[in-house]
Amino acid sequence: MRKRIDHTENNRRDFIRSTSLATAGLLLGNPFLTLANAGAAGSEAVGTFPAFAGGGGPLQPAILGGDPIRTKKWPDWPIWDKDHDEKPVIDDLRSGIWSRADLVTEFESKWAALTGTKRCLSVVNGTNALITCLIQLNIGGGDEVIVPPYTFIATVAAVLAAGAMPVFVDTDPETFQIDPAKIEAKITPRTRAILPVHILGLPADMERIGQIAKKHNLFVIEDACQAHMAEINHRRVGSFGHAGCFSFQNSKNLAIGEGGAITSDDEAFMDKCYSYHNYGNPYGTVVGDVHAGTLIAGTKLRLTEYQAAIGLAQLQRLDAQTTTRNVNAAYLRSKIKDIPGIIPYRLYDNVTRAAFHLFPFRYHQEGFKGLARKDFLKALNAEGIPCFEGYAPLNKMPYLANAFQSKNYRKMYTPKELDIHAFNQRNECPLNDRLCNEEAVWFAQSMLLGSQEDMNDIVRAMTKIHDNAEAIKKAAQS
Ligand SMILES: *Cc1c(COP(=O)(O)O)cnc(C)c1O
Repeated sequence: MRKRIDHTENNRRDFIRSTSLATAGLLLGNPFLTLANAGAAGSEAVGTFPAFAGGGGPLQPAILGGDPIRTKKWPDWPIWDKDHDEKPVIDDLRSGIWSRADLVTEFESKWAALTGTKRCLSVVNGTNALITCLIQLNIGGGDEVIVPPYTFIATVAAVLAAGAMPVFVDTDPETFQIDPAKIEAKITPRTRAILPVHILGLPADMERIGQIAKKHNLFVIEDACQAHMAEINHRRVGSFGHAGCFSFQNSKNLAIGEGGAITSDDEAFMDKCYSYHNYGNPYGTVVGDVHAGTLIAGTKLRLTEYQAAIGLAQLQRLDAQTTTRNVNAAYLRSKIKDIPGIIPYRLYDNVTRAAFHLFPFRYHQEGFKGLARKDFLKALNAEGIPCFEGYAPLNKMPYLANAFQSKNYRKMYTPKELDIHAFNQRNECPLNDRLCNEEAVWFAQSMLLGSQEDMNDIVRAMTKIHDNAEAIKKAAQS
């Protein structure tokens, strides 16, 4: 989820523009329509009329020229408290100590404590946290890594960067997570790791995934890039696998702009990750020491001091924000779950806290008189409720063929293994296709930082669209 929340006005205008003539005709046949509104529907001056609430009839949807439920701003993201947050960052900038030093170490120890792991290493971003883990677990050419297709591209990009072969396991549409019941069928002698993603900030079923990994002697690398402070049985994600990976990119629940972290209890592994992130120099080598000698083939992934200062400021809010998101998500879920055609996310029974990087639900158009998801999204956006359709299926995009055509892949795999059509067939994920292409709807985490009244706006808007689904569908189709 990296898009800033768009102002909804443009979406609304576009839809109105493309449907204005038909809409005007439709509205003229609407017994609830005033003459003033009929004029508005055919012009640009949409939404400037008082809400049509008279007569006990349904409110006019904003997409058809009525007033939006909401014009008030949603909470901003990222949050920056000028008075409270700036001094440590400015102090660092003035000190000239910008490369990795005490602030980075402090951030790492706090993040390790927060996730309940022995060690944390900060890196430049979540993508490279994943790549580092794969490479330092010696996973590469010829190895298979089990991944969900319902994730951000970086998960699979990391597997490809390591030279390994992604193997996709279908999504459980109820939870939006990798379906643990379908993992074992995809394990082969070449499988080395399972890479579950706590996607949308909802924990994956780590108990079952852990059991499968143990039985087959596989590593588990958790992609917790959207799941800061999420918990299973009061234990934090990022502490279940051999390693956990986090992102502090601007949209994430802890925002630094860019940044990432690896968490683990395996000290020797973490020493190697440290070394790798610092040109391969031995663990403990300080920045600037060029005589230490180089132990392993490394790269350079260090976080800066001013990034750590920003992270330490954000860290102070994370727990309270996570609570707010959980409270609002539970409330919103309880209010929309009975709208026909709306099926909110399900959390696994052992989840004690989610991160709600996004608030997801499934949309079934049958509950909305056949109104297509894209038109539902437009209509909801027009009501002042930003919403998104979310991910496209990652198991069938051109980047895979591109990786398979690379020199390295052609040296590491046989032509048969790199046959993209056979790969696509092996990696079919039909439930995920439906989730991506027809069903999923998201709200961004920052909306969940609002008040209960803000959640009520969402409920009102969804109810309004439900009540007017037939008219909206007709306008969208004509
Ligand atoms: C954001 C994200 C990443 C990558 O993190 P970056 O810091 O953007 O590199 C990986 N996986 C998931 C699920 C993410 O959401």
